[in-house]
Amino acid sequence: RLIEEINAQKKELIGMLAANTAHEIKNPLTSVRGFVELLELKYDRQGDNPHFAIIKTEIDRITDIVGQFLLLGRPTEENNEPTEVVKVVKDTLNFMKYDFDVHQMRLISSYQEPELYTMMATDQLKQVLINLLQNAKEAIPEGRSGVIEIKVQLQDMIIITISDNGIGMSESTLNQLYEPFFTTKITGTGLGLPVTRNMIELAGGTIEAQSTVDVGTTFIVRLPISQS
Ligand code: ADP
Ligand code: MG
Repeated sequence: RLIEEINAQKKELIGMLAANTAHEIKNPLTSVRGFVELLELKYDRQGDNPHFAIIKTEIDRITDIVGQFLLLGRPTEENNEPTEVVKVVKDTLNFMKYDFDVHQMRLISSYQEPELYTMMATDQLKQVLINLLQNAKEAIPEGRSGVIEIKVQLQDMIIITISDNGIGMSESTLNQLYEPFFTTKITGTGLGLPVTRNMIELAGGTIEAQSTVDVGTTFIVRLPISQS
């Protein structure tokens, strides 16, 4: 009970912090990145100075964290349009395909029903899928041929299943998945899954993980069906 209360307060505090500071950080960052690019043009015509790339990568990383913060703090607005789930899944896969190809991972997709609608903003559903697919990709260890599978099915709810044959998760990791800033990665933010769950629950859905160490992980997202 007490822990629940503390968690609720934590969430509220993070939301407030996010709303108040994320934008303020994002704007100057954009300008810093622009000026770094100018400096690069001026002082690195050969393009052989690695420091510029490092600065840009690090700025992009901050921008990414701040972006996730913004999502974490976002209230229930703009959810009043039904979104076509399979279409968004296909669009997202198209957009990520190149990245999977580069890492020589196989992507398998199947759709039981063509037209399914849910009340979740398209951008949010996209972000959910990107976060889960990105985690799946990052779970594949070097040297293993990765297989990532995504399925959309229909029962009493729309069910999106994303599984990977990656490193899997221990019991203790499974218990901390949705805590803001929990990460087992050196360059992780630990914000992907809390943001993901937040968006799913705001849309009236649920998320669940099943995992076996060194065998793989499956995330199951359930979303309410809505009329088109
Ligand atoms: P991040 O990816 O930045 O670490 P997330 O919130 O997306 O943050 O994930 C939190 C943690 O959950 C990860 O660090 C990882 O330990 C674990 N995790 C999430 N998805 C998977 C997966 N598909 N396979 C193995 N571990 C996962
Ligand atoms: Mg992640």
